[in-house]
Amino acid sequence: MAQRVNATDGTAKCARRPYREAYTLTDAEKKANKRAANHRQHQARRAAGPAPGKWDFGRMLCMQDARCPYCMTILDKYHVDHKLPVSRGGTNNPSNLQLTCPRCNILKGAMTHDEFLVSKKRPVARQTA
Ligand SMILES: [Zn+2]
Repeated sequence: MAQRVNATDGTAKCARRPYREAYTLTDAEKKANKRAANHRQHQARRAAGPAPGKWDFGRMLCMQDARCPYCMTILDKYHVDHKLPVSRGGTNNPSNLQLTCPRCNILKGAMTHDEFLVSKKRPVARQTA
């Protein structure tokens, strides 16, 4: 049977301390972690290459019949989506880009195109009359 330790007992405090020390970061460590994360994001964005131009958007709209590839709604507002996200090594090459409705792009997040297609988050295709 598990022994219950009183909170005012000195042994209980000592027993917990190693766990807390291992999982509690100092402010300097938190700052260093944040800085490293910013550095990784900056490197990924640089490696993705230059942003696409307005002609690329027009071409993508034509190729997609101005519809979101996930929910098939007509795109009056759109987000530029990376099929393979920049955070996972994707580039700004037009072959990696597609236009989606804002809702699908936000739901997709850092998933790849294929992961999003099989995920439960994907909205059901809307019926259009
Ligand atoms: Zn959509």
